[in-house]
Amino acid sequence: MTKMRALVLEKQHELKLRDIDLPTEVGPGQVKIKLHTVGVCGSDVHYYTHGRIGPFVVNAPMVLGHEAAGTIVEVGAGVTSLKVGDRVCMEPGVPDPNSKASRLGMYNIDPAVTFWATPPIHGVLTPYVVHPANYTFKLPDNVSFAEGAMVEPFAVGMQAATKAKITPGDTAIVMGAGPIGTMVALAALAGGCARVIITDLAQPKLDIAAKYQGIIPVNIKDKKLIDEVNRLTDRWGADVVFECSGSPRAWQGIVDVVRPGGTIVVVGLPVEPVNFDIASLSVKEITIASVFRYAHQYDRAIALMASGRVDLKPLISETFTFEDSIKAFDRAVEGRPTDVKLQILMEDA
Ligand code: NAD
Ligand code: ZN
Repeated sequence: MTKMRALVLEKQHELKLRDIDLPTEVGPGQVKIKLHTVGVCGSDVHYYTHGRIGPFVVNAPMVLGHEAAGTIVEVGAGVTSLKVGDRVCMEPGVPDPNSKASRLGMYNIDPAVTFWATPPIHGVLTPYVVHPANYTFKLPDNVSFAEGAMVEPFAVGMQAATKAKITPGDTAIVMGAGPIGTMVALAALAGGCARVIITDLAQPKLDIAAKYQGIIPVNIKDKKLIDEVNRLTDRWGADVVFECSGSPRAWQGIVDVVRPGGTIVVVGLPVEPVNFDIASLSVKEITIASVFRYAHQYDRAIALMASGRVDLKPLISETFTFEDSIKAFDRAVEGRPTDVKLQILMEDA
């Protein structure tokens, strides 16, 4: 353990930049990374404002941050895939490699998975972190650290697009134009969708998403989604609906906008149970798929970004210094509709 400066969530509503003991020993198969950029995620903000997410409760001081990129400064015994100086981004979730879920390839749903900034595991808003090399991915020269720190939320989109089993030319709907919804839309387009109808109530969010080719914005304050879907699909419905708002209201009438035999992918997580007409699914033989983070998506996400097919840079709204990280969180709490992703720069550029 070494004392390092970190952004610590002491308890609900209380953030402090202070020294805290963190592990810095590099074991076999591990690497040490000097953090460069860390994104502020809705979940970090939720722990700050609510002190818990479902069963995960902040009972002890916890370092925040899990969307990160940096540079390798030390490699442990047996690491051959990475070397000192490599620019990387990291998967924040580490499973037990021998668990049944991991052996089946579903390591994201291993009950033993540990995840940065999910209590009681510390996150990475601190200068250095030690991490398994197997969950650390090299960034190509043309992918910046800022983009590297966007791979984590984009990987959620990649997982959703994968679960949707998109067929080339599909029409998708994404409900909710927050950072996750927008990245799901981009992953769906990269995965073969011809067009993605994206909904929200906040016009600035829709305006940002609609700058991408193939994304059709629908403000559900002004228009009925069903009318737009009927118009655009000749009353057939969308092949895939990605629910990314987390609002129970988004579930009302959702079946009406899916085509017969279509799929609903659950990404957004309502805080309360949702009242839903199950019988209406059966008439259309609708498949429901769900997503918990991602597995095996980082390398594919990075490849799409390096190819130029997916450009996440326009989604970075503002960058704060590490010393200003509490300001970054308070700005995120404001929830400005023009903000998509706020990031924190951990070192001088
Ligand atoms: P966010 O709050 O920034 O975005 C949600 C957006 O939905 C907002 O822009 C809001 O205006 C909009 N919205 C609210 N009600 C709506 C409605 N009825 N119809 C359409 N849009 C509506 O959140 P985010 O960070 O983008 O995350 C989205 C959701 O995804 C959250 O519920 C989050 O918990 C969840 N999430 C799930 C996973 C997973 O692994 N399944 C991972 C990350 C985030
Ligand atoms: Zn995140």
